[in-house]
Amino acid sequence: AIQKAGWNFDNSYADLPQLFYSRLQPTPVRSPKLIAFNHSLAESLGLHAQALQNDEGAAIFAGNVMPAGALPIAQAYAGHQFGNFTMLGDGRALLLGEQITPDEQRYDIQLKGAGRTPYSRGGDGRAALGPMLREYIISEAMHGLGIPTTRSLAVAETGETILRETELPGAVLTRIAASHLRVGTFQYAAGWGTKEDLQALADYTLRRHFLHADLGDNRYLVLLREVIRRQAALIAKWQLVGFIHGVMNTDNMALSGETIDYGPCAFMDVYNPSTVFSSIDVQGRYAYGNQPHIGAWNLARFAETLLPLLHDEQKQAIRLAEDEIANYHELFQRNWLSGMRAKLGLYNEEEQDQSLVDDLLRLMEQHQADYTNTFLALTFDKQEDNALFGSSEFTRWHERWQERRVRQEESLESSQQLMRSSNPALIPRNHRVEEALEAAVHHEDLNVMQRLLKALANPFEHSSEQAEYCELPVPSGRPYRTFCGT
Ligand code: AMP
Ligand code: MG
Ligand code: MG
Repeated sequence: AIQKAGWNFDNSYADLPQLFYSRLQPTPVRSPKLIAFNHSLAESLGLHAQALQNDEGAAIFAGNVMPAGALPIAQAYAGHQFGNFTMLGDGRALLLGEQITPDEQRYDIQLKGAGRTPYSRGGDGRAALGPMLREYIISEAMHGLGIPTTRSLAVAETGETILRETELPGAVLTRIAASHLRVGTFQYAAGWGTKEDLQALADYTLRRHFLHADLGDNRYLVLLREVIRRQAALIAKWQLVGFIHGVMNTDNMALSGETIDYGPCAFMDVYNPSTVFSSIDVQGRYAYGNQPHIGAWNLARFAETLLPLLHDEQKQAIRLAEDEIANYHELFQRNWLSGMRAKLGLYNEEEQDQSLVDDLLRLMEQHQADYTNTFLALTFDKQEDNALFGSSEFTRWHERWQERRVRQEESLESSQQLMRSSNPALIPRNHRVEEALEAAVHHEDLNVMQRLLKALANPFEHSSEQAEYCELPVPSGRPYRTFCGT
């Protein structure tokens, strides 16, 4: 039944075979306090913000009170972490259920940091305030950029501290996702379940995400194809804005095609394909320039899990899977190049566009130019006072680009319009995110974060109020580092 707050749960995941989840309640916390609440997201989910921005809401978003209709479960999954296969599962997250929205959409509502579960292994099941606010900021920034992503509904402080290297304030994040089905969920089914379990999971995934796809005579092949298609589109979008996920383990690849798991992610400033922010990624496995390849690697792991469903003869199944995987790079490349054309204001396609883009990127790397601001300067025809814009090679590139732009039918005005809508003024720059977190976590000042979130909601606005957020950090000589597992 629809309650005052608007909760309208279904719990279809719990209809899957028992091995896919464990039922349990969150562990209550000492004194819940609502720190962040996403008003517009709440409303779009059919939730009434006013009924939730109070003590009752705080108790719900901290896991102390269950909303009507919730059936909390921890999901089982496995995954390759930095290439090593492990049994994982929700070690600190609980799915409350699926909110059915007024327009009949289905979204997972998940509490992250809600206490230990059967999958916690050595972990405490908890999360720290800083990282949960960080996920809130960056996931909402991704949404503002038009990139498919899980979203953040609320962050509640627990009133308890958790122990990491030091004591940190604890918090629970409420995450909203099209689903939490992952490549790792299938790896778990393939490793620990029967063929019937695997098939139940595949049918569920098809119903949940690919209802409108033409299933033809091999529905599981369509599942593989559609997941590949969405990942190729998603990872191209990451590359186009300079987003580095940082921990593209197979358990962090959502089959819905949404970006998920904002642990060590960060946006690249200076263009360099080898950029890595994560403190634990010493080999650079998840470097910016590797992301498209890791996408293919993860999708191959997904394809492996589907082999028993693809064909009765394994040889045939492998051939079918290989053909699909082989399409990924071309799909990615097509998405990426069409995005790059838009960033350069190009409507039509020419053979040499790839080298036009490659040459620009090469010059940006060589002259250590800021990725976002270079495209912004090109958009507004601004001469940056830096090594890139001062180089004669760049001047020649710029002439080539101008010639290319006037070779298309569209006017320079509409070309600029296309660039405006393809080149964000704003990304969540690391120093601004840190500044917002510092104020929120250490000074109980949420205004800095609220202002940042407001600006990040409209990154293509190019307004003068936003200008301060385009500024680069004062060089510190120290590389920016991110962490997971907090
Ligand atoms: P992640 O790196 O966020 O994808 O998490 C990998 C795995 O570690 C997942 O199974 C998480 O649920 C689990 N995990 C991360 N942090 C904790 C924690 N504090 N307590 C228990 N499990 C955790
Ligand atoms: Mg994860
Ligand atoms: Mg994580």
